[in-house]
Amino acid sequence: RHAQKSVKDYIRTIVDFPKEGIIFRDVTTLFQDARGFRMAVDQLLSPYAGEQIDKVVGLEARGFILGGAVAHQLTVGFVPIRKKGKLPGAVLSEAYQLEYGEAVMEIHDDAIKPGERVLIVDDLLATGGTAKAAIKLCERLGAEVIGCAFVIDLPDLGGRKLLEDGGVDVFSLVSYD
Ligand code: IMP
Repeated sequence: RHAQKSVKDYIRTIVDFPKEGIIFRDVTTLFQDARGFRMAVDQLLSPYAGEQIDKVVGLEARGFILGGAVAHQLTVGFVPIRKKGKLPGAVLSEAYQLEYGEAVMEIHDDAIKPGERVLIVDDLLATGGTAKAAIKLCERLGAEVIGCAFVIDLPDLGGRKLLEDGGVDVFSLVSYD
């Protein structure tokens, strides 16, 4: 009844956003489609079937949408990692390098208990700086990061290698050269 579409078919590409020369991969067209969103969440979960996961950690902002759905499906708690200054409680902070300058990500210091097994979720892996900071925050709370799951991987930007060299398992649904 429906032609079989893949997750990649739902991702929109916008050139020169947010500035000239950038090719932006837009997952809002994936999220807004009932079948696309279902497919993406199901596929993000599939490699972890049978594994114990205590918490899902989502990265601001699109990682909240995916991570919330993944956590609900697993019936586990969801933990947000946010940009500096957004979380109301006591936080741990981790700075990381951007192309120009520096950014800071934060997690509530009581969000994960030592020994808990967490899955980190975000929409896209580029240089890996964001995910690396998230891994550090989780590990500083004593978590065991069992993997990082992304809809999109841009392998040329080196993020997958950075995370895997740090001993973290990386899973992604689609990649672009
Ligand atoms: P990284 O830290 O260089 O790996 O960048 C990854 C972060 O930047 C993620 O939180 C993404 O949401 C965001 N990001 C970078 N490029 C894109 C894009 O083309 N589309 C959507 N998000 C992007």
